[in-house]
Amino acid sequence: MVPGDPILGLTEAYNADPRPGKVNLGVGIYYDEQGRIPLLRCVRQVEQAMAAEAKPRGYLPIDGLPAYDLATQKLLFGAQSAALEAGRVVTSQTIGGSGALRIGADFLKRTLPQAKIAISNPSWENHRVVFGTAGFEVSDYRYYDPASHGLDFAGMLADLGALEPGTVVLLHACCHNPTGVDLTAAQWSQVVALVKERGLLPFIDIAYQGFDKGTDADATAIRLFVDSGIPAFLVASSYSKSFSLYGERVGALSVVAADRDEAKRVQSNIKRTIRSNYSSPSTHGGAMVAAVLGSDELRAQWEQELGEMRERIHQLRAGLVSKLAALGAPEFGFIQQQAGMFSYSGLSKAQVDRLREEYAIYAIGTGRICVAALNSGNLDKVAEAVYAVSRG
Ligand code: PMP
Repeated sequence: MVPGDPILGLTEAYNADPRPGKVNLGVGIYYDEQGRIPLLRCVRQVEQAMAAEAKPRGYLPIDGLPAYDLATQKLLFGAQSAALEAGRVVTSQTIGGSGALRIGADFLKRTLPQAKIAISNPSWENHRVVFGTAGFEVSDYRYYDPASHGLDFAGMLADLGALEPGTVVLLHACCHNPTGVDLTAAQWSQVVALVKERGLLPFIDIAYQGFDKGTDADATAIRLFVDSGIPAFLVASSYSKSFSLYGERVGALSVVAADRDEAKRVQSNIKRTIRSNYSSPSTHGGAMVAAVLGSDELRAQWEQELGEMRERIHQLRAGLVSKLAALGAPEFGFIQQQAGMFSYSGLSKAQVDRLREEYAIYAIGTGRICVAALNSGNLDKVAEAVYAVSRG
């Protein structure tokens, strides 16, 4: 037996809890105002059209649907990207963002067997598991500052600057999981310059594009790395959240190479990695995403629906902060500065235990809450309980 996943274990405990009005803030999913996982209108529309003209299900190419890969590149790098124009970027559809991370990890391990990887402290727990399982020695760099509930930028720069050249650096492009603490564009510029000067190899994880400022602004880190002229980097992206297609496993691995020839060699290696792993990705989710992104009308509708999710998260953050302030706890104002679905609330393990035991509110022991699991029906209850446990 190996230890179970703590987050999934929490959901099991939540499901078994008979108390009415229970709230699960431990999840990593966006729920709508009715507490449901949304099915986007643009997705419903393409799915109906696909069902009306049902097609046979052959295999996809090893690196997935070409239209999906192309649309993904444009979304990540910008439609007018010079790197795309130059053929420096290769993209493969993968089994979710998780698959992109693992294929990238296996590819790097094979190509640069001595390289180590550094991840943020803290990071999405699976980063350590994925890269560790692929054979990497995983270290971490300072990131979150519990005192300010913000970024320890000086610590981050110091730790990145001390890494051996050639070390892979895992960076969250936006909506950092689990803290919600992001870099400003100016801070990204400094990190990009340091990573380049130090000869580090960036591996950017973007699982929440469009959940903070919009699809272009949330890709700032990627655009800055391209513009810096850094010779190579990797991007693992996911549509799980931005299309609300969690179980369809829609992700992609993109590699930016020095030139078109190197990109071709990289692509041949990545295809071998995929082939030896799961052979090729699945058809349905990728076809839906490609159909939405490939139609001007559906794409505009998707941007609007994504914008609605983004705006709602901002409102929930503001609502929680103002309710807590009204109750007499103004110190939670930082929740409004954090970005994306998650927030490090600053609550201790003991306070999180009290939330669960006394109020049937489930959160992660680190104090991480999923802001996107709040709604107007549970926000007051959550704020009152957080206030109560924070006052001892
Ligand atoms: N990276 C981060 C930071 C994530 O939070 C997640 C999803 N929880 C992923 C990658 C993986 O996404 P997917 O569900 O598409 O595998």
